[in-house]
Amino acid sequence: MQSTAIQPPPKNGIRARLKALYRLMGECRLCPRECGTRRALGVQGVCRAGIRPRVASITRHFGEEPPISGTRGSGTVFFSNCNMRCVFCQNFPISQMQVGKDMTAAQLAGGMLRLQKEGAHNVNFVTPTHYAAQAAHAVHLARRKGFSLPVVWNTSGYERVDTLRLLEGFVDVYLCDYRYASPALAKRYSRTEGYPALIEPVIEEMLRQVGHFDGGRGVIVRHLVMPGHLEETRIILNRLRHRFGPQTTLSFMTQYFPAHKASAFPPIGRRLSAGEAQAALGMLAASGLENGWTQEDDLASPGDME
Ligand code: SF4
Repeated sequence: MQSTAIQPPPKNGIRARLKALYRLMGECRLCPRECGTRRALGVQGVCRAGIRPRVASITRHFGEEPPISGTRGSGTVFFSNCNMRCVFCQNFPISQMQVGKDMTAAQLAGGMLRLQKEGAHNVNFVTPTHYAAQAAHAVHLARRKGFSLPVVWNTSGYERVDTLRLLEGFVDVYLCDYRYASPALAKRYSRTEGYPALIEPVIEEMLRQVGHFDGGRGVIVRHLVMPGHLEETRIILNRLRHRFGPQTTLSFMTQYFPAHKASAFPPIGRRLSAGEAQAALGMLAASGLENGWTQEDDLASPGDME
Protein backbone atom coordinates (compact mmCIF):
# COMPACT_ATOMS: atom_id res chain seq x y z
CA MET A 1 0.00 0.00 0.00
CA GLN A 2 1.32 3.41 -0.87
CA SER A 3 2.21 5.36 2.26
CA THR A 4 0.52 8.53 1.14
CA ALA A 5 -1.92 9.95 3.65
CA ILE A 6 -4.31 12.51 2.22
CA GLN A 7 -3.97 16.18 3.03
CA PRO A 8 -5.82 16.84 6.29
CA PRO A 9 -8.40 19.65 6.34
CA PRO A 10 -7.36 23.09 7.69
CA LYS A 11 -6.58 23.22 11.40
CA ASN A 12 -9.79 24.93 12.46
CA GLY A 13 -11.71 22.35 10.39
CA ILE A 14 -10.08 19.59 12.38
CA ARG A 15 -10.87 21.13 15.75
CA ALA A 16 -14.48 21.79 14.77
CA ARG A 17 -14.90 18.20 13.60
CA LEU A 18 -13.38 16.78 16.76
CA LYS A 19 -15.63 18.93 18.92
CA ALA A 20 -18.67 17.86 16.92
CA LEU A 21 -17.70 14.18 17.26
CA TYR A 22 -17.29 14.49 21.04
CA ARG A 23 -20.60 16.36 21.21
CA LEU A 24 -22.30 13.52 19.31
CA MET A 25 -20.89 11.10 21.88
CA GLY A 26 -22.14 13.15 24.84
CA GLU A 27 -25.68 11.77 24.65
CA CYS A 28 -24.58 9.31 22.09
CA ARG A 29 -25.81 9.48 18.52
CA LEU A 30 -22.59 8.37 16.89
CA CYS A 31 -24.17 5.30 15.30
CA PRO A 32 -27.62 4.49 13.87
CA ARG A 33 -28.83 3.11 17.20
CA GLU A 34 -28.79 6.72 18.50
CA CYS A 35 -29.35 5.30 21.97
CA GLY A 36 -28.72 8.67 23.65
CA THR A 37 -26.51 7.21 26.38
CA ARG A 38 -24.67 9.83 28.41
CA ARG A 39 -21.23 8.50 27.57
CA ALA A 40 -19.58 11.76 28.52
CA LEU A 41 -20.54 10.82 32.10
CA GLY A 42 -19.03 7.36 31.67
CA VAL A 43 -22.31 5.51 31.14
CA GLN A 44 -22.07 2.60 28.68
CA GLY A 45 -24.23 2.53 25.56
CA VAL A 46 -25.95 -0.38 23.82
CA CYS A 47 -22.52 -1.09 22.30
CA ARG A 48 -21.12 -1.15 25.88
CA ALA A 49 -18.64 1.61 25.07
CA GLY A 50 -18.07 4.26 27.70
CA ILE A 51 -16.07 7.46 27.66
CA ARG A 52 -12.60 5.95 27.12
CA PRO A 53 -11.70 3.89 24.06
CA ARG A 54 -11.23 0.26 25.06
CA VAL A 55 -8.61 -1.54 22.99
CA ALA A 56 -7.96 -5.28 22.78
CA SER A 57 -4.68 -5.09 20.86
CA ILE A 58 -2.41 -2.83 18.82
CA THR A 59 -0.28 -4.94 16.55
CA ARG A 60 0.74 -5.62 12.97
CA HIS A 61 -1.59 -8.02 11.17
CA PHE A 62 -0.94 -9.89 7.94
CA GLY A 63 -4.36 -11.33 7.14
CA GLU A 64 -6.08 -8.34 5.57
CA GLU A 65 -6.50 -7.72 1.83
CA PRO A 66 -3.14 -7.65 -0.03
CA PRO A 67 -2.75 -3.89 -0.43
CA ILE A 68 -3.73 -3.38 3.21
CA SER A 69 -1.38 -5.96 4.76
CA GLY A 70 1.38 -5.51 2.20
CA THR A 71 4.67 -7.14 3.18
CA ARG A 72 5.17 -5.49 6.57
CA GLY A 73 1.64 -5.83 7.91
CA SER A 74 -1.30 -3.59 8.63
CA GLY A 75 -1.10 -1.77 11.95
CA THR A 76 -4.35 -2.94 13.49
CA VAL A 77 -5.99 -1.29 16.45
CA PHE A 78 -8.65 -3.76 17.59
CA PHE A 79 -11.30 -1.83 19.48
CA SER A 80 -13.36 -3.67 22.08
CA ASN A 81 -17.19 -3.58 22.08
CA CYS A 82 -19.41 -3.19 19.01
CA ASN A 83 -22.62 -1.52 17.95
CA MET A 84 -23.83 -4.56 15.94
CA ARG A 85 -23.32 -7.54 18.27
CA CYS A 86 -23.91 -10.23 15.62
CA VAL A 87 -24.84 -13.72 16.85
CA PHE A 88 -22.14 -15.24 14.62
CA CYS A 89 -19.29 -12.89 15.58
CA GLN A 90 -15.88 -14.56 15.40
CA ASN A 91 -14.39 -11.96 17.72
CA PHE A 92 -17.14 -12.03 20.34
CA PRO A 93 -14.84 -11.97 23.40
CA ILE A 94 -13.55 -8.62 22.13
CA SER A 95 -16.75 -7.30 20.56
CA GLN A 96 -19.24 -8.44 23.19
CA MET A 97 -17.41 -9.42 26.39
CA GLN A 98 -15.36 -6.28 26.89
CA VAL A 99 -11.94 -7.93 26.62
CA GLY A 100 -9.43 -5.11 26.35
CA LYS A 101 -8.20 -2.18 28.36
CA ASP A 102 -9.22 1.45 28.50
CA MET A 103 -6.86 4.00 27.00
CA THR A 104 -6.74 7.73 26.50
CA ALA A 105 -6.66 9.26 23.01
CA ALA A 106 -3.03 10.22 23.72
CA GLN A 107 -2.12 6.62 24.55
CA LEU A 108 -3.83 5.53 21.37
CA ALA A 109 -1.79 8.07 19.41
CA GLY A 110 1.33 6.63 21.04
CA GLY A 111 0.34 3.17 19.82
CA MET A 112 -0.10 4.51 16.29
CA LEU A 113 3.35 6.08 16.34
CA ARG A 114 4.80 2.78 17.55
CA LEU A 115 3.18 0.95 14.62
CA GLN A 116 4.67 3.49 12.24
CA LYS A 117 8.10 2.95 13.77
CA GLU A 118 7.70 -0.82 13.39
CA GLY A 119 7.12 -0.40 9.66
CA ALA A 120 3.36 -0.97 9.38
CA HIS A 121 1.92 0.16 6.04
CA ASN A 122 -1.04 1.86 7.68
CA VAL A 123 -3.04 2.15 10.88
CA ASN A 124 -6.17 0.05 10.64
CA PHE A 125 -8.96 0.88 13.12
CA VAL A 126 -11.00 -2.32 13.48
CA THR A 127 -14.64 -1.81 14.60
CA PRO A 128 -14.11 1.88 15.37
CA THR A 129 -17.64 3.29 14.95
CA HIS A 130 -18.47 3.69 18.65
CA TYR A 131 -15.06 5.30 19.27
CA ALA A 132 -15.17 7.66 16.28
CA ALA A 133 -14.42 10.72 18.42
CA GLN A 134 -11.44 9.24 20.24
CA ALA A 135 -10.03 7.58 17.10
CA ALA A 136 -10.13 10.84 15.12
CA HIS A 137 -8.65 12.65 18.13
CA ALA A 138 -5.81 10.11 18.25
CA VAL A 139 -5.11 10.63 14.52
CA HIS A 140 -4.91 14.37 15.15
CA LEU A 141 -2.55 13.97 18.13
CA ALA A 142 -0.37 11.43 16.30
CA ARG A 143 -0.08 13.62 13.19
CA ARG A 144 1.16 16.46 15.35
CA LYS A 145 4.00 14.14 16.39
CA GLY A 146 4.95 13.04 12.88
CA PHE A 147 2.46 10.30 12.11
CA SER A 148 2.04 10.08 8.33
CA LEU A 149 0.58 6.65 7.56
CA PRO A 150 -2.75 6.15 5.80
CA VAL A 151 -5.66 5.48 8.15
CA VAL A 152 -8.01 2.56 7.44
CA TRP A 153 -11.58 2.62 8.84
CA ASN A 154 -12.48 -1.09 9.06
CA THR A 155 -16.20 -1.14 9.75
CA SER A 156 -19.34 -3.27 9.75
CA GLY A 157 -21.00 -0.46 7.81
CA TYR A 158 -23.53 0.19 10.59
CA GLU A 159 -22.66 3.87 10.51
CA ARG A 160 -24.42 7.24 10.43
CA VAL A 161 -23.66 9.40 7.41
CA ASP A 162 -23.56 12.47 9.69
CA THR A 163 -20.78 10.90 11.74
CA LEU A 164 -18.86 9.84 8.65
CA ARG A 165 -18.96 13.41 7.30
CA LEU A 166 -17.08 14.51 10.39
CA LEU A 167 -14.39 11.92 9.69
CA GLU A 168 -13.49 13.45 6.33
CA GLY A 169 -9.77 14.14 6.30
CA PHE A 170 -9.04 11.62 9.06
CA VAL A 171 -9.55 8.49 6.94
CA ASP A 172 -7.82 7.35 3.75
CA VAL A 173 -9.30 3.89 3.21
CA TYR A 174 -12.80 2.75 4.11
CA LEU A 175 -12.94 -1.04 4.42
CA CYS A 176 -16.67 -1.48 4.75
CA ASP A 177 -18.84 -4.59 5.11
CA TYR A 178 -22.07 -5.00 3.17
CA ARG A 179 -23.68 -7.66 5.39
CA TYR A 180 -27.41 -7.75 4.74
CA ALA A 181 -29.90 -6.91 2.02
CA SER A 182 -32.92 -8.09 3.97
CA PRO A 183 -34.22 -6.31 7.09
CA ALA A 184 -35.51 -9.62 8.51
CA LEU A 185 -32.04 -11.19 8.47
CA ALA A 186 -30.40 -8.03 9.77
CA LYS A 187 -32.86 -8.12 12.66
CA ARG A 188 -32.51 -11.85 13.34
CA TYR A 189 -28.73 -11.96 13.42
CA SER A 190 -27.73 -8.45 14.53
CA ARG A 191 -30.86 -6.64 15.75
CA THR A 192 -30.21 -4.01 13.10
CA GLU A 193 -33.24 -4.17 10.81
CA GLY A 194 -32.38 -0.70 9.49
CA TYR A 195 -29.02 -1.88 8.13
CA PRO A 196 -30.11 -2.64 4.54
CA ALA A 197 -31.68 0.82 4.16
CA LEU A 198 -28.61 2.68 5.37
CA ILE A 199 -25.65 0.71 3.99
CA GLU A 200 -25.74 2.16 0.48
CA PRO A 201 -25.92 5.84 1.56
CA VAL A 202 -23.02 4.99 3.90
CA ILE A 203 -20.92 3.59 1.05
CA GLU A 204 -21.92 6.57 -1.08
CA GLU A 205 -20.59 8.99 1.53
CA MET A 206 -17.36 7.01 1.80
CA LEU A 207 -16.96 7.15 -1.99
CA ARG A 208 -17.62 10.88 -1.95
CA GLN A 209 -14.74 11.34 0.48
CA VAL A 210 -12.08 9.00 -0.92
CA GLY A 211 -13.38 7.51 -4.19
CA HIS A 212 -12.97 3.99 -5.49
CA PHE A 213 -9.90 2.16 -4.21
CA ASP A 214 -6.83 2.93 -6.32
CA GLY A 215 -4.29 0.73 -4.55
CA GLY A 216 -3.47 3.26 -1.85
CA ARG A 217 -6.68 5.12 -1.02
CA GLY A 218 -10.41 4.65 -1.47
CA VAL A 219 -13.28 2.34 -0.60
CA ILE A 220 -13.12 -1.46 -0.40
CA VAL A 221 -16.42 -3.25 0.21
CA ARG A 222 -16.37 -6.61 1.98
CA HIS A 223 -19.08 -9.22 1.67
CA LEU A 224 -19.20 -12.43 3.69
CA VAL A 225 -21.33 -15.13 2.05
CA MET A 226 -23.58 -16.81 4.62
CA PRO A 227 -24.80 -20.43 4.51
CA GLY A 228 -28.41 -20.78 3.41
CA HIS A 229 -28.58 -17.14 2.35
CA LEU A 230 -27.14 -17.03 -1.15
CA GLU A 231 -30.04 -14.90 -2.34
CA GLU A 232 -28.69 -12.13 -0.10
CA THR A 233 -25.35 -12.40 -1.90
CA ARG A 234 -27.02 -12.21 -5.31
CA ILE A 235 -28.94 -9.06 -4.33
CA ILE A 236 -25.90 -7.39 -2.77
CA LEU A 237 -23.69 -8.05 -5.81
CA ASN A 238 -26.39 -6.66 -8.06
CA ARG A 239 -26.85 -3.53 -5.98
CA LEU A 240 -23.11 -2.88 -5.81
CA ARG A 241 -22.77 -3.24 -9.55
CA HIS A 242 -25.71 -1.02 -10.39
CA ARG A 243 -25.40 1.68 -7.74
CA PHE A 244 -21.63 2.07 -7.56
CA GLY A 245 -20.44 0.67 -10.88
CA PRO A 246 -18.30 -2.25 -12.10
CA GLN A 247 -15.15 -0.56 -10.80
CA THR A 248 -16.28 -1.05 -7.16
CA THR A 249 -13.55 -2.90 -5.28
CA LEU A 250 -14.94 -5.96 -3.53
CA SER A 251 -13.40 -8.39 -1.08
CA PHE A 252 -15.56 -11.49 -1.49
CA MET A 253 -15.34 -13.85 1.47
CA THR A 254 -16.47 -17.48 1.56
CA GLN A 255 -14.72 -18.48 4.77
CA TYR A 256 -17.74 -18.14 7.10
CA PHE A 257 -17.61 -20.44 10.11
CA PRO A 258 -20.21 -20.66 12.88
CA ALA A 259 -18.95 -18.86 15.98
CA HIS A 260 -20.47 -17.46 19.17
CA LYS A 261 -24.25 -18.26 19.20
CA ALA A 262 -24.54 -19.23 15.52
CA SER A 263 -25.42 -22.87 16.26
CA ALA A 264 -28.73 -21.68 17.74
CA PHE A 265 -29.60 -19.81 14.53
CA PRO A 266 -30.05 -22.25 11.64
CA PRO A 267 -29.11 -22.18 8.79
CA ILE A 268 -26.00 -20.26 9.88
CA GLY A 269 -24.88 -22.91 12.38
CA ARG A 270 -22.64 -24.53 9.77
CA ARG A 271 -20.02 -23.64 7.18
CA LEU A 272 -20.85 -23.07 3.50
CA SER A 273 -21.20 -26.31 1.58
CA ALA A 274 -18.85 -26.77 -1.39
CA GLY A 275 -21.86 -26.30 -3.68
CA GLU A 276 -22.80 -23.03 -1.99
CA ALA A 277 -19.26 -21.70 -2.25
CA GLN A 278 -19.16 -22.58 -5.93
CA ALA A 279 -22.58 -21.05 -6.58
CA ALA A 280 -21.51 -17.84 -4.80
CA LEU A 281 -18.39 -17.60 -6.95
CA GLY A 282 -20.58 -18.11 -10.01
CA MET A 283 -22.76 -15.18 -8.91
CA LEU A 284 -19.66 -13.07 -8.51
CA ALA A 285 -18.41 -13.98 -11.98
CA ALA A 286 -21.80 -13.05 -13.44
CA SER A 287 -22.10 -9.81 -11.47
CA GLY A 288 -19.97 -7.63 -13.73
CA LEU A 289 -17.86 -6.43 -10.78
CA GLU A 290 -14.28 -6.15 -11.95
CA ASN A 291 -11.99 -5.33 -9.02
CA GLY A 292 -11.10 -7.06 -5.80
CA TRP A 293 -10.25 -10.40 -4.32
CA THR A 294 -11.72 -13.76 -3.44
CA GLN A 295 -10.23 -16.37 -1.17
CA GLU A 296 -9.57 -18.50 -4.21
CA ASP A 297 -7.03 -15.86 -5.21
CA ASP A 298 -5.52 -16.61 -1.79
CA LEU A 299 -5.71 -12.85 -1.52
CA ALA A 300 -2.52 -12.86 -3.51
CA SER A 301 -2.96 -10.35 -6.27
CA PRO A 302 -4.78 -7.06 -6.06
CA GLY A 303 -6.75 -6.20 -9.16
CA ASP A 304 -8.90 -8.38 -11.38
CA MET A 305 -11.29 -10.92 -9.94
CA GLU A 306 -11.27 -12.85 -13.20
S1 SF4 B 1 -22.16 4.17 19.42
FE1 SF4 B 1 -22.92 2.96 21.17
S2 SF4 B 1 -23.59 4.47 22.67
FE2 SF4 B 1 -23.41 5.51 20.69
S3 SF4 B 1 -25.45 5.43 19.75
FE3 SF4 B 1 -24.31 3.66 19.01
S4 SF4 B 1 -24.84 2.00 20.45
FE4 SF4 B 1 -25.40 3.94 21.44
